[in-house]
Amino acid sequence: MERGKKKYIGIFGGTFDPPHKGHISIAEKAMKQLSLSVIYFVPAYLPPHKLDRDFVTAKQRLAMLKLAVKGHRNFKISTIELKRRGISYTIDTLKTFKSRFPKADFVLIIGADNLAQFYSWKSPKEILKLASIAVYKRKGFNRSFKKKDIAFQKIKGDLLQVSSTEIRQRLRNGVSVTKLLPKQIMQYIKRYSLYVNPPDSR
Ligand code: ATP
Repeated sequence: MERGKKKYIGIFGGTFDPPHKGHISIAEKAMKQLSLSVIYFVPAYLPPHKLDRDFVTAKQRLAMLKLAVKGHRNFKISTIELKRRGISYTIDTLKTFKSRFPKADFVLIIGADNLAQFYSWKSPKEILKLASIAVYKRKGFNRSFKKKDIAFQKIKGDLLQVSSTEIRQRLRNGVSVTKLLPKQIMQYIKRYSLYVNPPDSR
């Protein structure tokens, strides 16, 4: 995509419980294909669509995210939602980004599962005024990836067969996650014995 001198900032929100290779792969592809200057990973404090779930602590999710982005130039982490606490609404985050970088344009990076529920987010129309949307395909969400009622660009790439849910389940069952999780994160998880408890609502 042709980009002028304008600064294009990618915003990649998520629970990152834990961050996985899919997240990194999506961000790498978005960075290249959309000619972004930087991508901010934004860990949610309380994701509105996952209020019935328990997470490892925000501090632990942040620590794992730091390990995940290490060595990736132009991947940054914004703790804006963690500091704001409460339910993490994308619209609030975008407004803060806009006030910090008034001249930049924003690209919200999401998976097709999030695109499918986009209109259930808080203030979706306002979000679309503040950012453009870039979507990565996701298993089970083919239809929403093709939908035309929201203007979005596609981030091209193969289907990524990974989710944090699957990783948590595998860890609990003692199944290997080597292919899904960066090594440093696996070491962190082992060190702090994360995701070993029997399932609650996770
Ligand atoms: P969980 O399984 O716990 O719901 P997740 O794997 O979806 O987690 P999140 O941290 O919630 O991970 O995701 C952050 C963003 O990355 C979301 O926009 C989500 O759609 C996207 N995403 C994560 N994994 C994939 C994947 N395999 N393919 C496409 N998009 C993905």
